Amino acid sequence: MDKTNYKHMWVYVEHDGTVVHPVSLELCCEVRKLCDQSGDKLIAVIAGEIPNTEVDKIRDCGVDGIIDVSGTGYERYNTEAYTNLFAELCVKYKPSAVFVGGTTNGRDFAPRFAARIETGCTSDATEVVYNPETTDIEFIEPASGGKIMAVITIPTLRPQVGTIRPGTFKYIPKGRKAVIEEVHETIDFPLEEIRTKLLSHEQAAYDPEMDIANAEVIICVGDGLSDERALSRYRELAKLLGGKIACTRPLYDREILSYKLQVGQSGVMIKPKLYIGFGISGAVNHVAGVDAEKFIAVNKDPDAPIFHYSDYSIVGDMDEVCDVMIEALKAKAV
Ligand SMILES: Cc1cc2nc3c(=O)[nH]c(=O)nc-3n(C[C@H](O)[C@H](O)[C@H](O)COP(=O)(O)OP(=O)(O)OC[C@H]3O[C@@H](n4cnc5c(N)ncnc54)[C@H](O)[C@@H]3O)c2cc1C
Repeated sequence: MDKTNYKHMWVYVEHDGTVVHPVSLELCCEVRKLCDQSGDKLIAVIAGEIPNTEVDKIRDCGVDGIIDVSGTGYERYNTEAYTNLFAELCVKYKPSAVFVGGTTNGRDFAPRFAARIETGCTSDATEVVYNPETTDIEFIEPASGGKIMAVITIPTLRPQVGTIRPGTFKYIPKGRKAVIEEVHETIDFPLEEIRTKLLSHEQAAYDPEMDIANAEVIICVGDGLSDERALSRYRELAKLLGGKIACTRPLYDREILSYKLQVGQSGVMIKPKLYIGFGISGAVNHVAGVDAEKFIAVNKDPDAPIFHYSDYSIVGDMDEVCDVMIEALKAKAV
């Protein structure tokens, strides 16, 4: 395969017909930087109808072009139509890379269309780098239980397909380009070939306590926690600081806290002003999900790897330290 025949980087714009998913905006901002280095154009691909005000958000991310696709099969997400759509578009336009948000839907169709057009797909990168020598994108992610950072490339095939977890990159729009090339495509997918049927649909109730991605203060509890009863003091600390409780994977495995509260590579990416981690060793799989302005770690082991990441390191028993913090905050409030 001659890689030079493949040009420009695409971002799939996921939406629900009303708003664009934040991961698509984050990806547009990050992939803009890669395109500035490689000389490629940044192209957003939108299937189905969305309000123009939402398309404006994409335009503001510095895209060079938009491929807007209409036709049958895109009213609601389904594996078959979206797989076919990207397989067809990639064969026609030959992009160098396609970035897809690592949502439930994105993780479903991205590897499928990549396999269909016989290229590679890498999932859940926490960093993407353009290598000017090879012209490949390096998808970097924790591997081997977080002991190493793996650099994954798709060196001989194109396009390079990658899914990126929501919250990995920041949404900082670079501004609108004077000229944006907007192309319209019509691709009809036969509705009878969609193998899933929607019988009913119920919106999950919004629980603000579970929305840790947008919390300013996170009290994160790790496997050092003795048992569920000990959790109450961490809840109290979170309340006093106006923050939310989160956890590492073992606490979800122990069925103490919900998966929605798990921070890290296979959980939620958080960007709080303050993160306090109690009884957490500091595995890369966890800390890859933390982008905090101030990072405080509490661990009884002075050699715990988490102290490599913290601004303030407290060596001590997690429950005792938490109680001291609660007392100090209450004393300050009096
Ligand atoms: C593909 C993959 C994806 C993963 N994704 C995630 C993810 O998204 N999020 C995630 O969290 N993990 C993830 N993991 C798991 C991850 O590798 C670690 O196993 C996990 O983060 C460890 O959690 P922990 O630090 O709470 O527990 P441990 O590593 O067991 O650490 C517990 C810490 O508590 C300290 N401690 C014990 N008692 C006390 C006490 N009384 N006072 C103070 N300190 C105490 C100990 O010294 C120790 O450092 C993933 C793993 C894989 C393979």
